[in-house]
Amino acid sequence: MPAVGGTAWRPLPLDAVRVRQVAWVVLGVFAALTVLNLFRERWVSAVFDFGVVVLLGLALWRNARGQSTQAIQLMVVSLALGLMALMFAGQGLYDEAPMAYPTLVVLAAMLGARRLTRMLVAVLLASLMAMFLLDQAALLPSIPDSPLWVRLAEMGLILLVTWMLVQMISDDLRQAIGQLEGEKLALQQSQQENERLVQSDALTGLPNRLLARDRLEQLLVQGVDSDRFVAVIFLDIDNFKTVNDSLGHAAGDALLLQVAVKLRASLRDTDTVARISGDEFVILLGNLKSEHAIATVIAKINRVFREAFSVNGMDVLVTASMGITVSPRDGEDVDVLLKNADLAMYEAKDSGRNTFRFFNAHMNDAVAEQLHLASGLRTALGNGELRVHYQPQIDLADGRILGAEALLRWLHPERGYIPPAVFIPVAERCGLIHEIGDWVLQQACRDAQAWRALGLGELMVAVNVSPLQLRRDDFDVVVADTLAATGLPGALLELELTESSLVLDTRDLVELLQRLRRHGVRIAIDDFGTGYSNLGYLRRLAVHRLKIDRSFVDKICVDASDEALVRAIVEMAHCLNLSVIAEGVENEAALQRLRSLGCEGGQGYLWSQALPLDGFVALVRAQTKEVGTTS
Ligand code: C2E
Ligand code: MG
Ligand code: MG
Repeated sequence: MPAVGGTAWRPLPLDAVRVRQVAWVVLGVFAALTVLNLFRERWVSAVFDFGVVVLLGLALWRNARGQSTQAIQLMVVSLALGLMALMFAGQGLYDEAPMAYPTLVVLAAMLGARRLTRMLVAVLLASLMAMFLLDQAALLPSIPDSPLWVRLAEMGLILLVTWMLVQMISDDLRQAIGQLEGEKLALQQSQQENERLVQSDALTGLPNRLLARDRLEQLLVQGVDSDRFVAVIFLDIDNFKTVNDSLGHAAGDALLLQVAVKLRASLRDTDTVARISGDEFVILLGNLKSEHAIATVIAKINRVFREAFSVNGMDVLVTASMGITVSPRDGEDVDVLLKNADLAMYEAKDSGRNTFRFFNAHMNDAVAEQLHLASGLRTALGNGELRVHYQPQIDLADGRILGAEALLRWLHPERGYIPPAVFIPVAERCGLIHEIGDWVLQQACRDAQAWRALGLGELMVAVNVSPLQLRRDDFDVVVADTLAATGLPGALLELELTESSLVLDTRDLVELLQRLRRHGVRIAIDDFGTGYSNLGYLRRLAVHRLKIDRSFVDKICVDASDEALVRAIVEMAHCLNLSVIAEGVENEAALQRLRSLGCEGGQGYLWSQALPLDGFVALVRAQTKEVGTTS
């Protein structure tokens, strides 16, 4: 049999039941035709019809004996013979019998072999041709036209039989297609499962070396496209061999499984954690904006190994050594990066284990410093190492102290004073900013309320707010609770937002600030002029005050363009009904220039640095006395 599209052609796989049904239908039709022809006294046709009935009976008998193929052949042959005989005995090419030819061909094509169909078509065409020639030679018996009702009955019968047969065949076809689709789906699923098994580690279910390489390749392509970093962390469990040797391999496996689960749970879904051999894991970080993010991940991994793993009911402590490479700096190729990370990991082992090493040694100190600060900050809050200092804010018209900005200070037990510019970004990266921010807010509100109780007047307190704090939906609730707990009126609290908070100028932020305003809280934009250039937010966010950045105030008397900038900011602020305060005022000349430009407020070393609570209270008291004695 010739191959079609690579597969051999086969008739529809019909079962014996279907063949029996088809045979009974056509047998019934020919039995009816026999009766009809007897009734019309067309004896020859009746004999032919009866002959077909007998042959179909034979086909049914063969089918019942399991010889479906022969039964089909017999059925097709008998029907062809029957129809041709009817045509001969009837009205030749005008007879109804040839109308059933197409159905017979469809039946043969579906149930029988190709050869059978080919032969059938040839025979049927030949019969038509023969009929034409006989007709031309006037050799056909002249049979009068059947009455119209007989034609109607015969044509209706042919139509009904055609419909029934085609319906049966199309049902079978649909069922076969459904079965095929099911099989295809099962095949696809088993292929996917196979792929998963090939690419995942049997013990932990994590991606294996193969998939890790694949993922790294993808990350590198994305990194090149988006100008982001990719980091590869090669992690080896330090004392794994001891666990395996002393507790047995099953315990070793249980430990590896737990390490896998904990590593996976502590990292983001977008990070890849793979087990590439025995006790070696690879962690892939993609889409990194800065290398600082790696420190956060190392801190998370350290936390995983700080706790004991429970193996066979025993608490087992293990440590890990990590080697880290960063792309594109240390390489842009999968093999190079994996090799470099491996080398760095061995360096970590050499330096006493339970530590990390970057392939690029410069990174080691920076990340170690960051981790050190992050862990120090965690305890700093509880140990009272964090303090809030206050820098007075002055009314430039009369020199009165209007309030103060709360500035955080960290007095480290060994390293002394650490500036906020160093530790605030660390707190933001390790998530501590929320706890620290809440604490500063509470402290500042409590102190400002204490100033009122001491009779220092209605002094404002300004608190710096990190963009991350604003991302919390309930930040307004935190503020409202703090105001309620301390008793400070909302109108005496100003929140300083940086322009970078407003880059994400979403509807949520507008709503959050509106809710804050309902408590009377004022909003100031800190370091104004250094960031965002779209000023539409000043209206949308209903800001109260702009704080001109120190960098412009610094050179206001020296650099004409800085003066022009300050002038522009002041004028714009006034047009928008906002007040302005200048940061970093250090000398009298700058003060005079700011006054002449119409700036209302000032803050800077000219008056005072940020002072501890007592110092600030003393400063305000001294000023009040001064005013009292001069008036
Ligand atoms: P900032 O909010 O712009 O604070 C003003 C900074 O300028 C303060 O530095 C202040 O000490 C310094 N400064 C004030 N007057 C002068 C001056 O005349 N000359 C000079 N050279 N500097 C002056 P500090 O205290 O080191 O704070 C740095 C930044 O750290 C702050 O900038 C603020 O962004 C952030 N920060 C401080 N405390 C907090 C806090 O509690 N939460 C948050 N999220 N950030 C804080
Ligand atoms: Mg500030
Ligand atoms: Mg500032």
